[in-house]
Amino acid sequence: MSLVLPTSLSPSKVASFKECALAFRYSAIDHLPEPPSPHAAKGTLVHRALQLLMWEEPAGRRSLPVALEKLERARDDVLGSDEYEGLDLGDETEAEFLADAETLVRNYFRLEDPDQVLVVGTELLLSVQVGSLTLRGIIDRLELDEAGEFVVTDYKTGRAPGEAYEQSRLGGVHFYAFLCEQVLGRRPARVQLLHLREPLAISTVPSEQSIRGLRQQTSAVWKAIELACERDDFRPKPGRLCGYCAYQAYCPALGGDPAAAAEAVVARRAAHEEAKAAAQALEQESSELSDFPITVTPDTVTPDTVTPDTPVTITDAPDTVTDTPVALVASPSAAALVGTTAGV
Ligand code: SF4
Repeated sequence: MSLVLPTSLSPSKVASFKECALAFRYSAIDHLPEPPSPHAAKGTLVHRALQLLMWEEPAGRRSLPVALEKLERARDDVLGSDEYEGLDLGDETEAEFLADAETLVRNYFRLEDPDQVLVVGTELLLSVQVGSLTLRGIIDRLELDEAGEFVVTDYKTGRAPGEAYEQSRLGGVHFYAFLCEQVLGRRPARVQLLHLREPLAISTVPSEQSIRGLRQQTSAVWKAIELACERDDFRPKPGRLCGYCAYQAYCPALGGDPAAAAEAVVARRAAHEEAKAAAQALEQESSELSDFPITVTPDTVTPDTVTPDTPVTITDAPDTVTDTPVALVASPSAAALVGTTAGV
């Protein structure tokens, strides 16, 4: 039986396939739900606090006390969201969880002075169409250096990789450099990973060669995924990530039951179909209602209806980004920039 190919690849999906093909399949092809993890929640929380600091505060006002206020606000946004409903903190209490998140924010200030950062955008979703495949990634922060060149920054809240894994982590960063070059028309002068745990900054300069290497690597991963889908052959690869894997119960390498995964996929599809039918019925009902004349007065739409999460449009189209300074405006919510390219 051949499986349905995913339609997009991101740096995390490429890394996931290379780490363990079976975990990739459960996540990217079968879309089996993963329970919310404290590790992911803490990462989201800290990213959100730094995003609010960079986006809402001008240079000169990005102090540690202000960052801690943003963390407080982010706590309500993140831990109160549907995504993290039912989060089980395990042995950690909520107070310990929050104290650790605060340590990560404090560590950030040991790596750089945020007042010196000339922010262009935060949480930017860059997307490039390559044939039938979409390559996409969210850049935590895009900024300009003193020379007016782009710098891509990615925050990491887990432990920094050992030397053996450093290059593979930087592979993800080169992916962002590639997206940036394709969508914004300029290769970034530098890409950096800010590991907030240690704290440690790892930086690299993307080159023609590194981008070419990234294209070749992504192309090879995509071919391997196509082949694995065609043959329905995604093998487990036990390793350092098994301890964090949400699919242990389905993994034959860890004594799990793959048949239970197949049942979960069938149940998920049935639930999806049911939700789709309900949505269609609702749509039908509202279209019938819309046959009745409804009067809308100017009072219906007020400034209050525009919230911070209302999608914001990038003011400059990508093809207008040429020479610095760049007047590019993105929202605290992920804003999308889309480009096309001939081939990976
Ligand atoms: S438990 Fe380990 S080997 Fe099994 S699917 Fe997860 S990452 Fe792969």
